[in-house]
Amino acid sequence: MILDKFSLEGKVAIVTGSNTGLGQGISLGLAEAGAAVAGVYRNDAGETEAMITKSGGRFFGIKADLKSIAPVNDIIDNTVDKYGRIDILVNNAGIIRREDSINFTEKDWDEVMDTNLKTVFFLCQAAARQFIKQGEGGKIINIASMLSFQGGIRVPSYTSSKSGIMGLTRLLACEWAKDKINVNAIAPGYMETNNTINLRNDPVRSKELLGRIPADRWGQPSDVAGPAVFLASSAADYVNGYTLAVDGGWLAR
Ligand code: NAD
Repeated sequence: MILDKFSLEGKVAIVTGSNTGLGQGISLGLAEAGAAVAGVYRNDAGETEAMITKSGGRFFGIKADLKSIAPVNDIIDNTVDKYGRIDILVNNAGIIRREDSINFTEKDWDEVMDTNLKTVFFLCQAAARQFIKQGEGGKIINIASMLSFQGGIRVPSYTSSKSGIMGLTRLLACEWAKDKINVNAIAPGYMETNNTINLRNDPVRSKELLGRIPADRWGQPSDVAGPAVFLASSAADYVNGYTLAVDGGWLAR
């Protein structure tokens, strides 16, 4: 039955940035579809844990700072110690710095590129090594952005990192498809999370952006849950290297 292919029963997923926003929405979706979630968090994953366990799901928190690649191997090892295997990796954690490019600092460049691109690559690599060891393939979902497709303004390191995510997703799919590893990305549109507080609080930018979204609303964390479940499931076994926009029609405009 086709719906069985969407089930994540018996699967184990790592989700970075699981404590808030889109990472929380994705964690809840994967757990509801049956996956045990190893949620990587920086400060406190209590809310996500409570929401998942309340509805009978399994959640295990791993505290890590993804600004550097130092915690990468521990994240994989702790998940395998706890749940015995890994089937899904969602690279969701990310940061943004806003400043005119003419004044942009090296610090704001490095912090964003390290968190949003370098750590993502090394997490992909570590998860793929584990998938290959297990011999049954795996699913990687990277969180991209509208700025994987467009330029944006005042976010040079963010646009570079998210454009890099789309390219990296394609490259890894090409290298690892033979190992039954799918590497896809989700490009969220303008979503109501911490990441967009400044935009939503700016009456001019907020009105401009909302006026351009065909769905006529900001996205919610729950809007990315279904696409994430799909890409994490065997229903997406032949989808590889693709960046799926979840944007209320923004790119179609
Ligand atoms: P958010 O700020 O609520 O979430 C970001 C998450 O990343 C948080 O859980 C945070 O703890 C984690 N994180 C950041 N730096 C970290 C570090 N050094 N170590 C560990 N964890 C770290 O915002 P969000 O919108 O939910 O962002 C999630 C992802 O979605 C990001 O990659 C973001 O770039 C992307 N995105 C968001 C939007 C949007 O409109 N909100 C649009 C496109 C892409």
